Amino acid sequence: MSERFSGRTVLVTGGGSGIGRHTAVAFAREGAHVVVAGRDAGKLAGTVELVAAAGGSAHAVTADVTRAADAERLVAAVVERRGRLDVAVNNAGYLAAPAPLAELDAAEWARMLDVNVTGVWLSMKYEIAHMRDNGGGAIVNVSSTVGTHRRVPGLGGYGASKAAVTALTKAAALENIGDGIRINAVSPGSSDTAMSLRPGETEADRAERVKGQIPIGRVGELDEIASAILWAASDGAGFAVGHDLLVDGGAAL
Ligand code: NAP
Repeated sequence: MSERFSGRTVLVTGGGSGIGRHTAVAFAREGAHVVVAGRDAGKLAGTVELVAAAGGSAHAVTADVTRAADAERLVAAVVERRGRLDVAVNNAGYLAAPAPLAELDAAEWARMLDVNVTGVWLSMKYEIAHMRDNGGGAIVNVSSTVGTHRRVPGLGGYGASKAAVTALTKAAALENIGDGIRINAVSPGSSDTAMSLRPGETEADRAERVKGQIPIGRVGELDEIASAILWAASDGAGFAVGHDLLVDGGAAL
C-alpha cells in the first residue's frame, strides 16, 4: 500500500456519498486522517465506518457549505482536533433535475449556484486562510466536464455553476501559489453515482444512454475519479497549478 498522504489531514466536503465518500476512503488507504463534511450526519457516519473497515482513520463534521459560519466552523473544527489542514477537497455539489433554461425553476437555479459556487468559494476562503498561516497545502475543487468543457441542453444552470468553479479555481491558484497553496480542479464526466441518473432512469438505462454520448462507452468508475483527485492533491502534482483535469472518457473531445 502506498502512503502518499501519511500523517496528513485531508478534508472532503460532500464526503457522505458518491465521489466524496469514495475519495475519502482512498485518501485514508494512503495514510491520511480524513475529515468528511456534509449536512447529513448519518451519511457521514457511514463513510467513517467504511474508512475504519479499510483500516484507516476518519471523523465527521456536519456543515452546510453554503453558510459562511458553517464553512468557518468546519475548518476551525478540523484544526482544533488535528492541529492542521493539509489537503481540502471541495466536492459538495448539487444538480437539479434537467430542465431547459427557460423552464428552470428559480429556486433550483439558486440552489445550484449556492452549493456549487458559493459553497466552493466559502470553503476555499477559510481553508486558504488557515493554509497561508501554516506553510501551505493543496486544494482540489470538484468541477465538471459540463461547464467549461461541454454544453448539454437541460444542464445549463449546472454548467454555469461548474464553469464558475473552474474560474474560481484558476483565480485562487494564481492568488495563493506564492504562499505554497496549490489549487487545482478535477472535472469528472458522468460517473457511477446517483447524480448521473436522469429522473426515473435505472443504471441499465444510463449504461445504454451513455454508449452514444461518451467515446469510452461507459460512465466513470469512482476509483477513476478518486485517483485523479488524489494525484492533484499529492506531492507528485507539485508543478500543477490552476489545472482543470478532465476525467470524462473523452466526452469533451
Ligand atoms: P452526491 O452523491 O449527490 O454527492 C454530493 C454531496 O454533496 C453529498 O454527499 C451531499 O451531502 C453534499 N452536499 C450537497 N449540498 C451540500 C451543502 N449545502 N453543504 C454540504 N454538503 C453538501 O453526488 P456525486 O456524484 O458524488 O457528486 C460529487 C461532486 O462531483 C459534485 O460536486 C458533482 O457536481 C460532481 N460531479 C459529479 C458527476 C457525476 O456524474 N456523478 C459528474 C461531474 C461532476 P449532504 O446531503 O449530506 O449535505
